[in-house]
Amino acid sequence: MTASLAITTQQVKQAAAALKKLRPTYADLLNFYEKIFVAQEDSKSQIKIDPIKISEEILALKKKEKNSLLDMTEFELEPGSAAALLVRICQIVEAANPEMADSARVIRKAIASEALDPQPLFAALLKAEDAYFKKIEKDLGIEKKVLAFVAYSSIKPSVVHCAEQLASYLDPEQVWDKGFCPICGSAPGFSLFEDEGQRILFCGFCWHRWTAQRIYCPFCENKDSNTLHYYFSETEKDYRIDVCDSCKTYIKAVDKRNTDRIIYPPLEFVATLHLDIKAQEMDLKSGIQIDLQ
Ligand SMILES: [Zn+2]
Ligand SMILES: [Zn+2]
Repeated sequence: MTASLAITTQQVKQAAAALKKLRPTYADLLNFYEKIFVAQEDSKSQIKIDPIKISEEILALKKKEKNSLLDMTEFELEPGSAAALLVRICQIVEAANPEMADSARVIRKAIASEALDPQPLFAALLKAEDAYFKKIEKDLGIEKKVLAFVAYSSIKPSVVHCAEQLASYLDPEQVWDKGFCPICGSAPGFSLFEDEGQRILFCGFCWHRWTAQRIYCPFCENKDSNTLHYYFSETEKDYRIDVCDSCKTYIKAVDKRNTDRIIYPPLEFVATLHLDIKAQEMDLKSGIQIDLQ
């Protein structure tokens, strides 16, 4: 299991340029996310968080029971850089995402006037405390999904950094066959097939990448090949969706055997919303929450 998203901002820009050329209809969306991801990679390159320690005893137990190393609430954040990134992310949203701009502006002003404290916001996000988000939504007159988006976007560099450090506790040779991320227990959000056909899954939360069994559903752990399929389009052979008949869930994948462009999975994820629409027309659900607006 190699580091999840070890890539430079320059490579993010190259990956975005290649995708924009390939799929011009996604240009506005890609321009927006390119700015978000570049800001995140810039922030991540400066992060210094001491590695989260797991005792040998706990580690042995986790491995025996095939549990994740921790849960979302246990991630360490670098408060200052996450708060600074929150303001930067709001500015990017205001300038490049008309749909979310109004809420982002109110959030940024509330931070400046100290009506909104970023640290409880980050804590509430890690604890998935919906009541907190509902309260802020009401108090500030904003959309809570925008608040969740800017908050997650701001803590992501810290979360990915911690996940990369925690990966040293895992055996890189072990093929994982559980329906959740071996680091944080969240559902996988995206998948990739390597040049040799090796199947890689990426966590939908901490973006840890792990080698997964080829024939299995990464949500319900179904291993019956008769009920596992994949679909692809003749015009887009670099993508596929893997589907499980048992839990009616799908996951999107990029197939590196059919493309040689630089792959930055978070960008591929947003440049494939048409696959989510198709899958949902087929009455399939995503393993993670997807906003199709
Ligand atoms: Zn994870
Ligand atoms: Zn399934």
